[in-house]
Amino acid sequence: NADAAMYRAKSSGRNNFQFYAKEMNAQTGERLSLERDLWQALGNDELFLVYQPQINLHTGEITGVEALLRWKHPKRGMISPLDFISMAECNGLIIPIGTWVLMTACKQILQLQREGLPLLRVAVNLSARQLGEKDFVQTVRDTMDAAGFDPRYLELEVTESMVMHNIEEVVGVLGALNEMGIQISLDDFGTGFSSLAYLKRFPIDRLKIDQSFIFNCDTDPDDAIIAQTIIALARGLKIKVIAEGIEKAEHLAFLKQNGCDEGQGYFISCPLVFDDLRAMLIARQKH
Ligand code: C2E
Ligand code: MG
Ligand code: MG
Ligand code: MG
Repeated sequence: NADAAMYRAKSSGRNNFQFYAKEMNAQTGERLSLERDLWQALGNDELFLVYQPQINLHTGEITGVEALLRWKHPKRGMISPLDFISMAECNGLIIPIGTWVLMTACKQILQLQREGLPLLRVAVNLSARQLGEKDFVQTVRDTMDAAGFDPRYLELEVTESMVMHNIEEVVGVLGALNEMGIQISLDDFGTGFSSLAYLKRFPIDRLKIDQSFIFNCDTDPDDAIIAQTIIALARGLKIKVIAEGIEKAEHLAFLKQNGCDEGQGYFISCPLVFDDLRAMLIARQKH
């Protein structure tokens, strides 16, 4: 990135500066044009959601879906949220985008219920900036009302790093959301710097074991013990626990054996576009 290029330019002397300056400009230029495009993406219907099913590992039943944001850029094709969420955080676009995600997820999941399919819990990822907005709780309330969505079927995902700052405020915000019936889950659990004491202070309903501990849980004893410990911690605190990144039958077997309630991952299902989610639910209903 630009900072790294600048650092290298400084540390490697004058001769190289021209080269690095060029590289830096190209990168900055690319970032700026992507940023400009993102401003238009919302209005141009280039953003959409995919839904990854979450299942009860013991019964196989679908218990919910996680909504994941996608951007289909007219020239560059699909851009990963990992490549634009942090930019949207910086320039504030995450606020209207985040509200759009919430509204769209609620409307689409509700539409499935209107078609006679079961109402699923939908998990929506939040960003730090959204959580820090003064009127965030009101925005969520208004969105639920406008969509006609029962807040008990909404889950909001936060990460450890998001709740670390302004603890008092965050406790208040999450508490207010929780009182509306909304569930709160702690995403990527185990990867952030946090204190376990937070688990007592925040109204957390569910821990999501980060996928990095799942990928080798069947072969790496360290990952296995970390996953087992998170499961034990959640059970002891009487909160639910879900594993993400289940890619193989061995992962699923390990998690079942160790008492993990729920899971999601490519082995169960990739994130699905709305029509595919509907088709899958209809097919399952017929069985
Ligand atoms: P996350 O919330 O931890 O989401 C899990 C990511 O892992 C998703 O990537 C998902 O597609 C991917 N995944 C699911 N199953 C598997 C698996 O079995 N193996 C592997 N290797 N990966 C799997 P995705 O969709 O690219 O999202 C990346 C991150 O972007 C998310 O991580 C979340 O932090 C962020 N994000 C996505 N949508 C939104 C959104 O609407 N708002 C905000 N603020 N952030 C979002
Ligand atoms: Mg998530
Ligand atoms: Mg995660
Ligand atoms: Mg993640």
